[in-house]
Amino acid sequence: MSIKDNLQNILQELGAIQLVAVTKYAAPEQIQELLDCGYFVLGENKVQAAALKAEQYKQYPVQWHLLGHLQTNKAKQAVRIFEVIQSVDSEKVAAAIDKEAAKVNKCQKIFVQVNIGREPQKSGVAAELLADLLVYCRNLKNVQLLGLMAMAPDLPDKEQTKPYFKEMKELFDRYAAPYGLEFLSLGMSGDYPAAVQEGANMVRIGSKLFTGE
Ligand SMILES: *Cc1c(COP(=O)(O)O)cnc(C)c1O
Repeated sequence: MSIKDNLQNILQELGAIQLVAVTKYAAPEQIQELLDCGYFVLGENKVQAAALKAEQYKQYPVQWHLLGHLQTNKAKQAVRIFEVIQSVDSEKVAAAIDKEAAKVNKCQKIFVQVNIGREPQKSGVAAELLADLLVYCRNLKNVQLLGLMAMAPDLPDKEQTKPYFKEMKELFDRYAAPYGLEFLSLGMSGDYPAAVQEGANMVRIGSKLFTGE
């Protein structure tokens, strides 16, 4: 199946749920094919790679989402490229974004990333520290806190990811109204059906879109 077919099938399946098309492993001709379909909400996990692609595809109205950990020394570049930074997981990162956004008169949209599986190799704030980080972000002038993001542990049986997504939905339901959160970004190619069933309203899909798997 072509990327166009994959895109149509995924969008139809998702309905009102937002899709971030993750281009980090896609070849240039694959990204071009997606852009030719008129799909412009794209995700990358590294600032450097996104900078190259943002330049390469600057004639398109791409909304870039940062999905990977942000080093504070890349905050300056990040606020110039990304529509949304989904991976804020510390006060330090949030403060660096706020400072650089102020310099360019931007209000940077951010999500807070939660390490819902408590996995040492993954980034994200621990669930019990989430409230403190939300308070901190809300008080920053040049960031707009808009959502929560998480990755479930990579389990062979995708049914087993559901408790993690459920826990994220509970956190979202608790904090959405008080903090004005709109997006719950959960689920990737392997586990997005489970994420959607548990209440995600944004998913991030790469390999299923570009390779069909
Ligand atoms: C790479 C990545 C994705 C997409 O992964 P696929 O398995 O290719 O769909 C989603 N979210 C994050 C945070 C990623 O780094």
